[in-house]
Amino acid sequence: MSSLSGEREFRINIAIDGPAGAGKSTVARQVAAKLSYVYVDTGAMYRAVTWDMLNQDIDASDEASVLERMNHLNIELVPGEEGQQVWLSGQDVTDHIRSLAVNRNVSHYAKIEGLRLKLAAVQRQLALRKGVVMDGRDIGTTVLPDAEVKIFMTATVRERAERRFRELPDSEETITLEQLENEISQRDELDRNREVSPLVCADDATVLDTTEMTIDEVVDAIVRQAHLQWV
Ligand code: C5P
Repeated sequence: MSSLSGEREFRINIAIDGPAGAGKSTVARQVAAKLSYVYVDTGAMYRAVTWDMLNQDIDASDEASVLERMNHLNIELVPGEEGQQVWLSGQDVTDHIRSLAVNRNVSHYAKIEGLRLKLAAVQRQLALRKGVVMDGRDIGTTVLPDAEVKIFMTATVRERAERRFRELPDSEETITLEQLENEISQRDELDRNREVSPLVCADDATVLDTTEMTIDEVVDAIVRQAHLQWV
């Protein structure tokens, strides 16, 4: 049996976790493309919900209202020509979810247990048939603890801030690299210290410090790990 047909028949799940701006999405998308797998960006789900809550004027401290609103939201991730689109209850919100307002608020909503349970259930459903590359904060620990490959991607906070700086939409208010670095550190703190499924490296994950690595090198390292599963 050739390794290619082996790949097609034996599909695995790949979990990629790590702090903000570590390059998870770029890498996960490319790994998925190389393996003909589906890419699932779980951060986009938390961002879409946050965008909606801000629009509805529902504060993260008002958990009952957040959860009530969640009952009316339907999130879909749709592969598009320019990357994954995020649809919220029939509306394409892809262009709205990377704003500074969402960046600044998302971790406050993401610590709500009921909200996490709902999103994790959607995420598990997407991974049921395997062949998924999923990135986030709690994929290897909580959402897909049985994922065959688990990666924890890191980079220095300055490097991560520089990467996010380059991604900011042109329309955004001016923010300096230093401010962005502070905001990323604060978001990491909140994600690391929350009670429910915090950002933590799974015991059985491979840690990749990508500060000095190119995207191609990171992608190749993960694809190599995937290949080890079927040789
Ligand atoms: O990955 P991204 O930076 O887009 O994630 C945005 C935020 O969503 C994170 O800072 C975190 O608060 C939340 N998140 C999470 N669990 C995930 C993915 C994202 O709590 N699996």
